[in-house]
Amino acid sequence: MFDTNIRYAVLGLARSGIAAAYKIRELGGTAFLSDNKPREQIAEAAQLEADFECEFGAHSDRLLDFPVWIISPGIPLTAPVIQKGIKAGIEIISEIEFGYRIMHEGSKIIAVTGSNGKSTTVSLIHHCLSAMGYKSILAGNIGDALCSYPIEKTGIDYIVLEVSSFQLDTIKSFKADVAVLVNITPDHLDRYKDFDDYAQSKMRVFLNQTSADDAVICTDSEPIMQRIQQIKAKQHRYSLKSCYSEVHAWMDKEYIQIGSKHRCSIDDLTIKGPHNHANFMAAMLSIQALGLELDAAIEAAKSFPSLPHRLEYVASVAGVGFYNDSKATNTDSVKSALISFGKPIRVIMGGSDKGEDFGVLTDMLSQWAVKVYICGDTEAKMLQAWQGKLPLATFQDFGACVQTAFEESSPGDVVLLSPAAASFDRFQNYQHRGEVFKQIVQSIALEGNHEEK
Ligand code: ADP
Repeated sequence: MFDTNIRYAVLGLARSGIAAAYKIRELGGTAFLSDNKPREQIAEAAQLEADFECEFGAHSDRLLDFPVWIISPGIPLTAPVIQKGIKAGIEIISEIEFGYRIMHEGSKIIAVTGSNGKSTTVSLIHHCLSAMGYKSILAGNIGDALCSYPIEKTGIDYIVLEVSSFQLDTIKSFKADVAVLVNITPDHLDRYKDFDDYAQSKMRVFLNQTSADDAVICTDSEPIMQRIQQIKAKQHRYSLKSCYSEVHAWMDKEYIQIGSKHRCSIDDLTIKGPHNHANFMAAMLSIQALGLELDAAIEAAKSFPSLPHRLEYVASVAGVGFYNDSKATNTDSVKSALISFGKPIRVIMGGSDKGEDFGVLTDMLSQWAVKVYICGDTEAKMLQAWQGKLPLATFQDFGACVQTAFEESSPGDVVLLSPAAASFDRFQNYQHRGEVFKQIVQSIALEGNHEEK
């Protein structure tokens, strides 16, 4: 229920902040908008000023007049403005917490978090629920913000939410009917004190659940298993390694088995690689936990297309296969990519640093990389981890990097962009990096005359 007497401030005017502000306005409330970016860097500034009281360029003490702040996941809790707010007794929440407080109680929430596989898993769940005839919305860290949907009204059966650790850090009462944790591996260590701090943030997806709720977890993840006693909800477990007596979904040769009655051949799925089989298990167990018909869900899953920028096939040029895995911004996602081709490949890596130790990839790259082509701000750190241990080349120019990987290839080779780093050193975001990669591949293809390969 929305209380019009509460005066909100919204800090950080990107997708989720703007959606929250307009929801507050729509419901008859007051929101003060604040962003420390200069006005000219905020695309919607003029419209926002027309609709709200706003401040740009700095967060002023005016904010202290507002007892609840909805903060963007981009603002760390350690930021001086947030610390000031906490000291002043301000309630600091995320947009998903706000959405949860106002949503209609008839909708059910499936919330998915983890280091890698969130987008694929939520998209698959949403795809199946929609194909099964339910009114499902896909929101959160993917697609549109939760508050951009009419969540306060009846009519939405399922809210499928992708939630990041940053969003979970500022939940208070948020509770999912089905909470899914796909894995916890090092990521975002630039924003957390240490790995434990990050892992605890992921576990918050289960924080407010009770035994009446459901939790879907991957038992292959040691960090999850070490924290399993924190989960109060009914557990639905899956694994790529364990067998049926230990888990509710597992691999049986070329089949994914869900309980004793349901199975799906991996050849019937368009999403490839063991990591995607795990994502499929997570999605199916979530749908089963909702009490829905699993046969229909498995049938629907077969028509789920793989998502762009995740092991996305781009083209074959003179027999060289190009794959775009720009979304692989941490080392664990690169590990999944490396084992998905069944043969050694040429890997383009590098970008902006997220604080990870690249040494964890040395053994797998030795086994699965013909050569690593490094381009990005992580160059020195990657060289330090791999020099003398792997065939390497470094580049200042991304186009030259892709071109060289192609020139050194033979027919049958694979060139994979799987950076193990964020994109912000050279690109707007991972999508932009993936699109640029695809354009470069297209221009290589258009240059033609590749008969020599
Ligand atoms: P997220 O939304 O958590 O970033 P995505 O589904 O977008 O996850 O995938 C991000 C990257 O991680 C891609 O490179 C993808 O191939 C890889 N990936 C997907 N699922 C998994 C998984 N279960 N384990 C490890 N890597 C994965």
